[in-house]
Amino acid sequence: MAESETEARPGHHAAGGRFRNPWPDIPPEPAPGDLLKWSWQRLRADLPPDPAPGALPRGEPALIRPRLEAGAQGCRLTWAGHATFLIQLPGLNVLTDPVLGDRASPLTWAGPRRFTPPGLRVEDLPPIDAVLLSHDHYDHLDRPTVRRLAERFPDACWFTPLGYRPWLEKRGATRVVELDWWQEAIHEAESGAIAGVRALPARHWTKRGLLDARKRLWCAWRVEAAGRRVYFGGDSGYCPAFTETAEAEPPFDVLLLPIGAYEPRWFMAAAHMTPEEAAQAYVDLGGRGACIGMHWGTFRLTDEDPLEPPSRMRRAWSGLGLDPSDLYIPRHGETVSL
Ligand code: ZN
Ligand code: ZN
Repeated sequence: MAESETEARPGHHAAGGRFRNPWPDIPPEPAPGDLLKWSWQRLRADLPPDPAPGALPRGEPALIRPRLEAGAQGCRLTWAGHATFLIQLPGLNVLTDPVLGDRASPLTWAGPRRFTPPGLRVEDLPPIDAVLLSHDHYDHLDRPTVRRLAERFPDACWFTPLGYRPWLEKRGATRVVELDWWQEAIHEAESGAIAGVRALPARHWTKRGLLDARKRLWCAWRVEAAGRRVYFGGDSGYCPAFTETAEAEPPFDVLLLPIGAYEPRWFMAAAHMTPEEAAQAYVDLGGRGACIGMHWGTFRLTDEDPLEPPSRMRRAWSGLGLDPSDLYIPRHGETVSL
């Protein structure tokens, strides 16, 4: 490749059509063999137990049907579990990383199983205008859920980072908009509401099959409608993406940030934040607006106590002097009204 072409390639585009994290490699990305090393350690480790039934209390969804009125103030966010939210903005219903099945796994009979049923089912949903997909890991992208959504909401527009169109079209999605980091799309919903959707950087990676590591991009999202601005963090390690985002975007009203899946640090730090790092990310992202903790209490993916993230997040939050009334950690199925 000519030198000028190399220079023109953005930092997160690697050679051979794959993607990479463009920031200094601190903490380092896992080396080949680290996954095996972690799996071996796990077999021998005494991991904290799965939550007892009832340890994860449930909330009652308070959905607005079909949509929040166009002239309404505020927004509603309902947690279906893990990274799946129904975000209701005036005139616009948005679903994030839809995983409503029983397992985060390629198999129906093995792999991480839900601690408690999803807080929303496909049949409970009001009309969906847009779906935001952050990346292809099984706890964020679930084939049966995608098929059922595509069938029930054929007009929904699927916003993805680069590299997802063929996969989604094969599962029935007809409107797919792929964006690179920093690119924005304007979407007119059926209600007439205008949404601004922008792909934002995150420190993570992708892989679903044997040979597809980093062939699809990963990202965070901003969705804006009727002057309400929501940041959806997807999955990310702590990195300069958050300050870069704050420099490029006006302040957010609501920020959905991952607070779980962080142990052991020697392996997870490159791709997942601790609650302390998530609280710092909120500060980096502008330090204002409602923060909603997600990506915990749903599947066992890593080695920490699955019930630990909320208390650590609350401690880190007050340790940074942030207003406790700005932090929300909803129950499965609970609706946060803002
Ligand atoms: Zn992931
Ligand atoms: Zn994840």
